[in-house]
Amino acid sequence: MKLYETVIGLEVHVELATKTKIFCACSTEFGGLPNAHTCPVCTGMPGTLPVLNKKVVECAMAVGLACGSDITTKTIFDRKNYFYPDNPQNYQISQLYAPICVGGSLEIVTEEGKKQIRIHEMHMEEDAGKLIHAGNNSYVDYNRSGVPLLEIVTEPDFRNAKEVITFLEKLRLIIQYLGASDCKLQEGSMRVDVNLSVREVGETKLGARTEMKNLGSFRSISKAIEHEAKRQIEQIEQGNVIVQETRRWDENAETSYSMRSKEAVRDYRYFPEPDLLPLYISKEWIARIKANQPELREEKQKRYITQYALPEYDVEILTSSKELADLFEETVALCQAPKEVSNWIMTEVMRLLKESAKELKNTGLTPKNFATLIQLILQKKINRTVAKEVFEIMFVQGIEPLTYVTEQGLLLVEQEGQVQQAVEKVMQDFPQCVEDYKNGKEKILGYLVGQTMKMLGGKASPQKVQEVLKQQLKNS
Ligand code: ADP
Ligand code: ZN
Ligand code: MG
Repeated sequence: MKLYETVIGLEVHVELATKTKIFCACSTEFGGLPNAHTCPVCTGMPGTLPVLNKKVVECAMAVGLACGSDITTKTIFDRKNYFYPDNPQNYQISQLYAPICVGGSLEIVTEEGKKQIRIHEMHMEEDAGKLIHAGNNSYVDYNRSGVPLLEIVTEPDFRNAKEVITFLEKLRLIIQYLGASDCKLQEGSMRVDVNLSVREVGETKLGARTEMKNLGSFRSISKAIEHEAKRQIEQIEQGNVIVQETRRWDENAETSYSMRSKEAVRDYRYFPEPDLLPLYISKEWIARIKANQPELREEKQKRYITQYALPEYDVEILTSSKELADLFEETVALCQAPKEVSNWIMTEVMRLLKESAKELKNTGLTPKNFATLIQLILQKKINRTVAKEVFEIMFVQGIEPLTYVTEQGLLLVEQEGQVQQAVEKVMQDFPQCVEDYKNGKEKILGYLVGQTMKMLGGKASPQKVQEVLKQQLKNS
């Protein structure tokens, strides 16, 4: 068999996180009764006119600037004509001739080293409604109709699934950090179409490609890429040609089937949208968006290393989502203990998030209660075992830790005398151990510490107990 290489280009749609739709004032809120968030504009009633949402343009510019794209100073909208019941106007307002962002790239790290993935362009468009099929009837819900989308089109620069996933993870984080979209594949706020062809190694011309849709997770994307590359190679080896077509991934069957032959641009009879004027974007506007760009992941990572003196490993985890980074920074601002906060996030927070399958914002954890707990530990008011238990309760119920430990009597024994008394009692109860210790069996100390802790109901710091014990043993 000949040697083949896979060539992939992506079309990534993200729902922009604006309050209202792209051409009307309807809410973009997810859910709600069918057609609750609709008006004459987004249901395509005759005589209505679209009005462009400025926020959509600004979100698109922000994403473009973060990827090094050029912003088109005179951008226009175009009509993409097609009939489908989820598309009430019989056309989609999109951009073809002068998309808002052109060019740019993102660098990814692959096994072979660093690699640039070039961005072809990014354009704004409106989402379609949703068909619901029940029994013999079909219904249509236009709540999503007119929700703003940004479509990001890459050059065919990927050679395998891993590169694709690495790129998507990076792109998603950038967009999340910008607050331009939450980019959830499962909920459809990020949708990825995979264009794939294969060719013999050494060949420079691109092969015929297919476009794969319905990829609901990173796992599906990987599986679909592997499956499609294999399928195309088999076809070619059997002497068949690759049919340019749109295919649909079936997640359960882990296979794909043909949906329709691939339509060409001309099939859509695109033409400039007559109801919208060209949009002129000034240098000042671009500069303003640039100046207001929030700190992105890579800058944040550099700052954490210098400002908080954290190891790279910590920084990698802390910045793995915007929410986590915000929690970290806000907590540190309150308790001034970066490494301590980082340790708790890397272990307990990550573990509890995973076990509960919750999002951070749906837990009881706040920078305030988190910082209070850290202070209780650092001031030696509670020990680490207690702290862990309190942390779990805090994560679930959002309790105030100081009130909680006070009410539950979990504060460490504060009077020196109490530790002293307990130590004396333990030494009386375990004379043999005391004897052994004095005869050089120093390991027995741990056992005595344990007994004393038990007597104090765990409410003492082990270091303190050990200190008092050593002193007493020396004196006895
Ligand atoms: P269309 O106009 O049909 O949507 P585009 O030229 O806009 O096609 O390309 C869409 C996507 O397909 C881009 O991400 C591009 O990189 C990718 N692509 C184009 N040709 C190929 C090919 N032969 N193999 C793999 N990907 C391709
Ligand atoms: Zn509307
Ligand atoms: Mg295209």
